[in-house]
Amino acid sequence: MIKNISVSQITDAVYEAYDLFKDNSTGENARYIPYLANIPSDLFAISVCLPSGRLINVGNTDYVFGIESVSKVPTAILVMMQHGTKELLAKIGADATGLPFDSILAMLLEKEHPGTPLVNAGAISACSLVKPIGDEAGKWNSIVNHLTDLCGSSPHLIDELYRSESDTNYNNRAISWLLQVYNRIYDDPMMSLDLYTRQCSLGVTNEQMAIMSTTIAEGGRNPITGKQIFPKEFTPQIISLIASVGFYQKTGDWIFSSGIPAKSGVGGGIIGIMPGVFGIASFSPALDKAGNSVKAQLALQHVMKKLNLNIFHPTRAIVIE
Ligand code: GLN
Repeated sequence: MIKNISVSQITDAVYEAYDLFKDNSTGENARYIPYLANIPSDLFAISVCLPSGRLINVGNTDYVFGIESVSKVPTAILVMMQHGTKELLAKIGADATGLPFDSILAMLLEKEHPGTPLVNAGAISACSLVKPIGDEAGKWNSIVNHLTDLCGSSPHLIDELYRSESDTNYNNRAISWLLQVYNRIYDDPMMSLDLYTRQCSLGVTNEQMAIMSTTIAEGGRNPITGKQIFPKEFTPQIISLIASVGFYQKTGDWIFSSGIPAKSGVGGGIIGIMPGVFGIASFSPALDKAGNSVKAQLALQHVMKKLNLNIFHPTRAIVIE
């Protein structure tokens, strides 16, 4: 059965979620990255991007924040494009670790591969696999150009965040050297870590995140530029990675209670992908104990519930404009 949803139903759900949760002060900013600790905790944004490119925005949707772990998704897509899905599976894997994003224990339990490109170990390994374009800054250019393609406009490095993370990322350094010990990194470990740290420090807006979500939900077609960014065939693999580990050790609880594959970052951003229907993003810096934005989770859950949408539901939905 196909269900029709109108733009005004989506708009109402988005505004209602904003009003319901804007004053919620649960959670705390990420403290282990000094820059993130100082971002105003009450910022809040929700954006939905429809396949036509129409945007429904509420709150601080043009505030530039650190993309952090949401950047693991575009780089995983880039590695799929450059090496193919079989190579991604063989060299990194697609398994949920069931453990926090920065877990060293996860690496010790599964020495065969880092598990998935959506936790730190797999993401650093993914950065090592990125093929350069052009000169020596080529790998970085590859990552930034690809993210620009997905969002339809360029992200900008937040220098202060990059310095703040680089000065404090001791755990990620340990992860990078362990990847070397287990032969699961495919370029220089510290260079790969630096690429990863820089990609996490890219500044994006909530609106850009929603456009990226819709590019994925639409099988690689950017809804704003109309450009095909990745082969449509990769879409199920990309969304399956997000569905299986997007919230780390809390992913099962998340998908059970929300019905939407989503990926979070400690900067406070979450992207949600409703395949063939729309992409949604929400941003608010205060996090729960697993590092996922409290208000952004509430917002996505509310919109999905209000529209009676769920990726596992037998009814498919079409947005009527
Ligand atoms: N850059 C952060 C880190 O490596 C990203 C973590 C996250 O967003 N979950 O710790």
